[in-house]
Amino acid sequence: MSEYFNKKEFRSGQVVVLAAVFLGLLLVAIGLAVDMGFAFAARARLQNCCDAAALAGAKSVPMVQEITNHAIDGYSRNLNRDAALQSNNGTTAVYNIGNDQVTVITPYQDTDTSDYPAERCLKVSSVRIISTHFMKLLGINTMTVKAQAAAVGLPGGPVSTARGCLPFGIVWDDFAFGQKIILKEGGGSGAHGYYGALALGGNGASTFENNIMYGYPGLISIDQDAEEWVPLEPGNMSGPTLKGITYRINLCKHQPPCTASNYVSGCARTGIVPVIEALDLTGRSTVQIKGFAFIFLEGCYGSGNDCWVEGTLIRAVADDAKGSASAPNYGFITSGSTQLLK
Ligand SMILES: [Zn+2]
Repeated sequence: MSEYFNKKEFRSGQVVVLAAVFLGLLLVAIGLAVDMGFAFAARARLQNCCDAAALAGAKSVPMVQEITNHAIDGYSRNLNRDAALQSNNGTTAVYNIGNDQVTVITPYQDTDTSDYPAERCLKVSSVRIISTHFMKLLGINTMTVKAQAAAVGLPGGPVSTARGCLPFGIVWDDFAFGQKIILKEGGGSGAHGYYGALALGGNGASTFENNIMYGYPGLISIDQDAEEWVPLEPGNMSGPTLKGITYRINLCKHQPPCTASNYVSGCARTGIVPVIEALDLTGRSTVQIKGFAFIFLEGCYGSGNDCWVEGTLIRAVADDAKGSASAPNYGFITSGSTQLLK
């Protein structure tokens, strides 16, 4: 009898040990699966961010200096975290965004991008170290998750149709980008009583002032077969000019305050300015629009009737405008199309 019981106890002891081993293995397997699940989810998130960043950067081609900024903006927005610059040697920039270390390389060339010039391509790669939960039991405390994306920006064209123009016409004179130019002349400088103001959407000081404050809400187009002529707005209109420009400049609350060389995309201190034909105004009250330029508003100067407006001419890529390869290029271009390359 006692032998029988001993055998039975022995067997049940074996079962208990085996059950414990299997249970242990099962827990490890579940733990691994849970941790791997977290890793796969993080990897998918990282890939989304890299794709969005690469496409955002490619949208800025061929503005080489803007590609990295826009790629990082794209990543940052996608992850909803701020970016902090770690290093930038001119072609490779490293940022910390949330828990991710993000690297942008442009110009960029590898086998995936070799069909395109390197300066049209960029690569965004990202690394995130995540803490494990169950794998800690095996002594593995962290896992490294990586993703990357490359993209190309294909050529757009100079802007040929724009909305939101400032009501100032500039005559192109071999300007350099980064150069300060007069958008509206002061008293005594105008030609035939014309100081550079355009009557977009109607004459009168209040329309002019509104167009300065908010941009002309209508479309101006120089697409083929649609030569655009707009009325000139005579007179100096110092009051409305000063009021409109001051309003617009004060809308910039960015810190540090925007400048022509470092501004936040979409800031009210930037604006589209029509480029007009040379002024030959004898007896004419309309002027032909030749194309579009982009400026940073520096300010409104002078007093009384002697009020002039200065802006710095900048190269920019239009967010929402139509381009045409045949339009004259005044530095304001559309982004063309973008494409992920892997
Ligand atoms: Zn600003």
